[in-house]
Amino acid sequence: MVGEPGVIKKLDQVVVNRIAAGEIIQRPANALKELLENSLDAKSSHIQVNVKSGGLKLLQIQDNGTGIRKEDLAIVCERFTTSKLSKFEDLTEIATFGFRGEALASISHVAHLSIQTKTASEKCGYKASYSDGKLLDAAKPCAGNQGTIITIEDLFYTMPQRRQALKSPAEEFQKISDVLAKYAVHNPQVAFVLRKQGEQPTLKTQACSSRTENIRAIYGGAVAKELMEFSHKDEMFRFELQCQLTQVNYAAKKSTLLLFINHRLVESPALKAAIDGVYTTYLPRGQHPFVYMSLVMPPQNLDVNVHPTKHEVHFLYQDEIIERIKLQVEAKLLGSNATRSFYKQL
Ligand code: ADP
Ligand code: MG
Repeated sequence: MVGEPGVIKKLDQVVVNRIAAGEIIQRPANALKELLENSLDAKSSHIQVNVKSGGLKLLQIQDNGTGIRKEDLAIVCERFTTSKLSKFEDLTEIATFGFRGEALASISHVAHLSIQTKTASEKCGYKASYSDGKLLDAAKPCAGNQGTIITIEDLFYTMPQRRQALKSPAEEFQKISDVLAKYAVHNPQVAFVLRKQGEQPTLKTQACSSRTENIRAIYGGAVAKELMEFSHKDEMFRFELQCQLTQVNYAAKKSTLLLFINHRLVESPALKAAIDGVYTTYLPRGQHPFVYMSLVMPPQNLDVNVHPTKHEVHFLYQDEIIERIKLQVEAKLLGSNATRSFYKQL
């Protein structure tokens, strides 16, 4: 039996916004990544994160960056409002993380969001709350240090199914901690603190420390003491590589790759497979390395105009660049291996 066709209706705007927001902000760790990038864009040197119940009850980030201008507080959570991009052409040269003005807007559609902020030129700070992209009441003056505190409460209260589909608070906290750890390693000039509300920090790095120091503080001495460092500049394919990777004495059950391209935390399955491939020659079966890699290339060669949740990136000359990186890693591992057997012979 053939039924009647469905009646097509336009969805309510709030529903549309919620669906779109839910695609951008999929879990607390996603939200944190957006907020961290905002704090780094605002040139902060101290970033503190406070979490309750895996970020579902509370996810709060405090920075000492530029702050947000009082005049902008009314529109900051509207969709497509940004201080970072004005023309489409700018996209090819963008140097900041954000550029679409979607993060705060999205969060305000799926959580209670409030902003407390103070710029250098204002005498006092201002505090404002948002819902569905809109400022709830006029921003109120308040005391406070320069910088911004973004407070997100009851994430996904508007989407009970999403909330149920998430992992346990402990696992969500682990994902938050993972994201923060990676940004802390990549940005040793900035101090990071992560704590569960009311508890001692679970992660802490100092301002102006070194990358190795941060790897030691976060991933442990066993990793840090086996690290080798190298950098490589490639004129032909125009990229620069900085890398810290464990030598073949080190092996873990799980492979860890911290990959930043143009300072964004990204994933590249092709690059990961290539690096793992090099190590399989040297490591026993089932054993894996720890690798930190930062690639910088001309912004025109990297497709940043991807959806915010697409952490997988594609870049120009990808195969060639990966091949070159592989050779570099190989040479470094061979070098360390040679040194090792040389010492053994003595
Ligand atoms: P985007 O980062 O793509 O511009 P967001 O929604 O993440 O979009 O942020 C909107 C705007 O809010 C930013 O362009 C910036 O001007 C301001 N902003 C957000 N977070 C901060 C912060 N921690 N410090 C200073 N300004 C901020
Ligand atoms: Mg942003």
